[in-house]
Amino acid sequence: MQKTSASNLTGAKKNSRLTAPIMVNSAEVMILRALRRQGKISRSEISNITGWSKAKASQEIRSLVDKGYLVEIGEGISKGGRKPGLLRINDQLGYIAGIDIGATSLDIALADVTGLVLQRCSEPTDVKLSPESVFGRCGELLLELIRTQSATPDQVLGIGVGVPGPVDFARGVLVAPPLMPEWENFPIRDFLKKTFISAFVVVDNDVNIMALGEQRAGDAAGIDHFIFVKIGTGIGAGIISNGKIHRGSDGCAGDIGHICVDKEGPLCSCGNQGCLEAMAAGPAIVSKALEAARNGTSPILSQMRESNGGLIRPEDVNAACREGDQAALDIIRDSGQMIGDVLAGLVNFFNPSHIFIGGGIANFGNHLLVAIRRAVLHRSLPLATTHLSIKFSRMSSNAGVMGAISLALDYLFALEDSPHFMN
Ligand SMILES: [Zn+2]
Repeated sequence: MQKTSASNLTGAKKNSRLTAPIMVNSAEVMILRALRRQGKISRSEISNITGWSKAKASQEIRSLVDKGYLVEIGEGISKGGRKPGLLRINDQLGYIAGIDIGATSLDIALADVTGLVLQRCSEPTDVKLSPESVFGRCGELLLELIRTQSATPDQVLGIGVGVPGPVDFARGVLVAPPLMPEWENFPIRDFLKKTFISAFVVVDNDVNIMALGEQRAGDAAGIDHFIFVKIGTGIGAGIISNGKIHRGSDGCAGDIGHICVDKEGPLCSCGNQGCLEAMAAGPAIVSKALEAARNGTSPILSQMRESNGGLIRPEDVNAACREGDQAALDIIRDSGQMIGDVLAGLVNFFNPSHIFIGGGIANFGNHLLVAIRRAVLHRSLPLATTHLSIKFSRMSSNAGVMGAISLALDYLFALEDSPHFMN
């Protein structure tokens, strides 16, 4: 994607450097919020949105233009008389990065401060490696993206990071992450700030940023109560309540993968038995498929195992199902039903209007979705399901990086005197 031309900038410090976060007063933040929502607006629209007099709006706008945060662009449509001057956030201020680390893949995107993605890249990873190794690689990839923009690392003003485990959001560290115990308390912010010295680094759980991405750039725009469920190597949920991420008291709200489904079930990575994740996520699907291949209930899976050198991948189970293999279909339906049973409890508890399903296993298509829907509808209160929509996210791997960028932008434009984020 190419960056938009900035040749029409007028009256602003074109290449202002900032010390993140951007410091603004509460009046100025109202203008920035409106601009983040609408992209570009005129001075009179700012008066209307804020309810300020034209003089007051002009004064606040001048202050933001003088700081280099806003630029005027002469593109307004005249309703008779002079064309109104439009304003937008100065996209030359610097860059924002989004890093989304999954258990087996990482996605990185570089955007300008309006959130427009300029470059992105993806590659496989393995969170069983050390955090130094994985974040070191993230740093290298981000530097490559920055070089393609002829920029320097100190121009990165914000980095949003999503990681697959429970995050203490205030400290920006993982706490007892079952998939990668070595990462506990690893100082992600400090590590990245060694290279990106001007950046404000904000770390969150991977599913929370996916929920945020769905809300800001996907089908959940304008939806105030929804759940984003990621089904991959693990299972987790991001909860948007009243339009905002609900992290709970310590940051681990939505960790539904460790809700118990069967006390006698298989051992989970968290140390308990029969967690939803251990019963229904990618590795569980694979281990059931291996069993079906070994015991002869699925000739197709058995054949796949032989040609894969003894291995079966989750996508093989999906392929076998598509070829009409009953054992593969049963495995996928069982997973869907267990996930749906847990979601039914959440629906009764939280009453969302929408559930979006993403992650690698979401590629499994309709059999999984139908099983999830059936279980939710069967077990939830009728009132809670009257308007409930359950569907796959269409954002694929974009949900995480877009959410990470949005999170970093929220921080960048945070109020000076408030820890709360912008909407
Ligand atoms: Zn568990």
